Amino acid sequence: MKEILLAESAGFCFGVKRAVETVYAEAERAAVSGRERVYTYGPIIHNETVVRDLERRGVCALSGTEELKALPDHAGITVIIRSHGVGPEVYEICREKGIRVVDATCPFVSKIHGIAAEERRAGRRFVIIGDPGHPEVQAIMAWGGPGTRAVESAEEFVSLGIGKDEPVSIAAQTTYQGAKFKKIIDKIRIMGYDIRSFNTICNATHERQSEAAEIASKVDAMIVIGGRSSSNTRKLAEICSSVCPNTFSIQTAEDLDLNLLAPFRRIGITAGASTPKHIIEEVQISVRAKF
Ligand code: SF4
Repeated sequence: MKEILLAESAGFCFGVKRAVETVYAEAERAAVSGRERVYTYGPIIHNETVVRDLERRGVCALSGTEELKALPDHAGITVIIRSHGVGPEVYEICREKGIRVVDATCPFVSKIHGIAAEERRAGRRFVIIGDPGHPEVQAIMAWGGPGTRAVESAEEFVSLGIGKDEPVSIAAQTTYQGAKFKKIIDKIRIMGYDIRSFNTICNATHERQSEAAEIASKVDAMIVIGGRSSSNTRKLAEICSSVCPNTFSIQTAEDLDLNLLAPFRRIGITAGASTPKHIIEEVQISVRAKF
């Protein structure tokens, strides 16, 4: 029999749990009223199973501002803002159209919006260390104003051409790796830039990452469960494979080739912030059932 080590921090974090519960509650409310339409601004989480289930309940995901603007201007429409947050423009469009907004932005992300807006008012350029293609980062950039940029290394920061006498404030994408962020900040500071840094990495991410690394160091094989488009799941898999070369990334139990686990005795399981509990349980059960 194989030994399974399941990470306690696997699955929904506080912000995602709150956002998903909000959407289900709103979908139920709309179903009872029978006259309302519920939309999420972007898929509520990076998890196809959950998004499909919500579609079945009548909740559609808007792809961006164009689709939002195309909604009819009347009451009876609710737009839910997901945990990643959005820029000020989205609130403005909803206000102009009389659309009801339910804001499920994670409070840790809202905090960065506040910092970005405040640093902008103080006349400082805002830079975010994170993936410029990620919706959380794009929303933060909108709060930081036109000069705000996202970079992923000290070299990219230098390439922005910011003068060493220009005041710059730097924060991190919530899911960024702590050690990497510190390294980038130290490098930029050593080069003599006038920077003020804000460590805005969320504890949930840090805890999940350290627990995953610890489990990965103790097992023969590691399973990382999460959506293909989930950046925090990808980072989790990256951390686990650096410690445990036999790391398998899957979306659901169906993706898991159990034969690959046959040679291993101790198996670790963790999951990204947007992985529902039932998917984690299904994976655990399928491993147990086979071995
Ligand atoms: S990872 Fe942290 S910041 Fe992001 S949604 Fe979860 S709790 Fe909020």
